[in-house]
Amino acid sequence: PADVPPPYAARLNTPQREAVLTTEGPVLMLAGAGTGKTAALTARLAHLIAMRLAWPSEILCVTFTNKAAREMRERVGRHIGDAVEGMPWLGTFHSVCAKMLRRHAELVGLQSNYTIIDTDDQLRLLKALIQDNDIDDKRWPARQLAGLIDGWKNRGLNPADLDAVDNESYANGRGQQMYGLYQQRLKALNACDFGDLMLHMLNIFRQHRDVLEHYQKRFKYILVDEYQDTNAVQYLWLRLLAQERKNICVVGDDDQSIYSWRGAEVANILRFEKDFPGAKVVKLEQNYRSTPQILAAASGLITANSQRLGKTLWTELEHGEKVRVIGVWDGPEEARRVGEEIERLEREGASLDKVAILVRAQYQTREFEDRFIQIGINYRIIGGFRFYERAEIRDALAYLRVIAQPADDLAFERIYNQPKRGLGSKTLEKMYQHARRTQMPLAAASLDLAETDELPARARNTLVGLLQQFVHWRELAEETTPAELMRAVLAESGYDDMLAADRSAESAGRAENLSELARAMEEYATLGDFLEHVSLIMDNDARDDGEKVTIMTMHAAKGLEFDHVFLPGWEEGVFPSQRSLDEGGLASLEEERRLAYVAITRARRRCTILHAANRRIYGQWTSSIPSRFVEELPEETITSETTMTGGASLWRANWSENEDPFAHVSSSRPDRSSARGPGWQRALETGYDMKQLVVKESRRSAASFAASARTDIAIG
Ligand code: ATP
Ligand code: MG
Repeated sequence: PADVPPPYAARLNTPQREAVLTTEGPVLMLAGAGTGKTAALTARLAHLIAMRLAWPSEILCVTFTNKAAREMRERVGRHIGDAVEGMPWLGTFHSVCAKMLRRHAELVGLQSNYTIIDTDDQLRLLKALIQDNDIDDKRWPARQLAGLIDGWKNRGLNPADLDAVDNESYANGRGQQMYGLYQQRLKALNACDFGDLMLHMLNIFRQHRDVLEHYQKRFKYILVDEYQDTNAVQYLWLRLLAQERKNICVVGDDDQSIYSWRGAEVANILRFEKDFPGAKVVKLEQNYRSTPQILAAASGLITANSQRLGKTLWTELEHGEKVRVIGVWDGPEEARRVGEEIERLEREGASLDKVAILVRAQYQTREFEDRFIQIGINYRIIGGFRFYERAEIRDALAYLRVIAQPADDLAFERIYNQPKRGLGSKTLEKMYQHARRTQMPLAAASLDLAETDELPARARNTLVGLLQQFVHWRELAEETTPAELMRAVLAESGYDDMLAADRSAESAGRAENLSELARAMEEYATLGDFLEHVSLIMDNDARDDGEKVTIMTMHAAKGLEFDHVFLPGWEEGVFPSQRSLDEGGLASLEEERRLAYVAITRARRRCTILHAANRRIYGQWTSSIPSRFVEELPEETITSETTMTGGASLWRANWSENEDPFAHVSSSRPDRSSARGPGWQRALETGYDMKQLVVKESRRSAASFAASARTDIAIG
């Protein structure tokens, strides 16, 4: 019979089906998390092909990540079979543009075999340009220029399009000049950077009507997922492409816009009806992903945002647990607690593949990685490196390895010129030759070499200086803790300065990672113990496939779902991040709250939020305040528990009579102007000093630790 829906549409609800069947004209699907937007978009794609409304090669479908593109390809493949192979235009904005640009490269002065350079190359190029142009790269570092150029490209701006403000933002009015020189340099190298992929294609569409018309004709249908996170250049590019046929279907959720720091503009989704008059707007309200409790918790939280369209979500799912909010003593206990919970899930038959830990900042993964390796839980890190594989961590470890083991040539090679000391690859070559000749380790051979006149005087002095530092650090290692040693090494080697000179957002993350490394080292008495621990962890990296817990940032988790989600570190200054608090603006705080909404709504069955009462920062215990987002969760949707056992002995050890352990509490206290949420409100209204509030509450709980502290000490 005619009314039996095709398989890809069988499960869809009425509004979803409407979005699938309204193939002609603009369609906007604006709906909350887990309502089946991506599912409907996938069905629409299958429908277009199955109904022969277009050939697979005549559909443009953009997703936010490669992973999402892969998943969509797989799902469509299940419905339409091999036809999906012929879909060259299903991918991310960047992958689609890279493909187009191969065909039209000559229009922007490139050859079709152009290379796409990575961030490292980009920085090297910029550094050279900065030096060539006599700009002080200490004051105006390459990273800053790279950030500005990316920003301009995200906004669709060529060098000639910059206004005075943009131009002023680098080296007193030389932004435009440097951007222009950089673009010329890239062209000479037959290369482009990531941002160019979009910008070049936008320029081509604007300047070559025939090319634009070709693609306008080709793409009978355009589909876009996660539309709330498109930036200006992507928006302009799409609008040009869709202007002719207007068969464009975009889906998104204003509450999940979390990439404004990369230039995304939520306004794009709000403007859609203006850009495409007569657009069909489909609202989905039934959530198929999460239990009612999880959904209510997330929906309740997001109502604290002022800038939103507002929407209702409901679910037919019954049963389910409240969102658990667990207060723990400190970071290690947080990791221990999550480990126990995961082991329990495993015993109950849950698959590790369905478990995720979502963190706000990369450095937070370290504590979990260490714990999981210790107790044998397999894990994978998505969208980043494992903690001990990150470049800055490897650098720090290389210094420590050379201190512990002077014959560690690989480690010495890694850092002999990191930070830059002006020792080039020629010097390294000579060092190696000499090492082979004399059968000495690289470091020792270098010292030997420095006594000959084979090297220029400057290189000789630098090498001797470095090796003397190592002698000093080896002595220091005898007298101090590994963590103290590492701090000294980072300061004295110039590594800290190198990071400080670099004002990019990335470098802040790298500094955070290094302090996290120091935190890890606090737990070891000797450098040898710590390095052994690290090598065991590195060895562990070569594990077999199998079920694994996923650890990733909340940002990277967009669009995904897991049965069980753990959200650690919900403390002021961690989440919301210190940066968002320092900026103090409402907008950055609301973006953090949207991120919280995204995080909670990844959970299908169970969501567990954790916050620790203490974090150790540079060997100092700092008390933390639970995130305002915890307070903003509707009370009836959560259960709270506090299990502060593990660290009670530490508490005693650290709290002597005449020392206020909360002396530094105020450091994590946000700026008053940015304070939001009932707890903060209360504190502000009553004029109650937040620090006192915390001290009082912590002291009250301190009494109840006494009992557990005793057992704790008894156990170990
Ligand atoms: P997000 O905003 O997080 O990207 P989304 O709106 O894209 O979420 P989907 O990922 O498409 O939501 O769907 C969420 C879950 O609901 C998936 O497991 C999907 O298989 C399921 N689902 C979607 N539509 C239906 C439906 N009509 N009936 C049953 N399950 C559905
Ligand atoms: Mg989705």
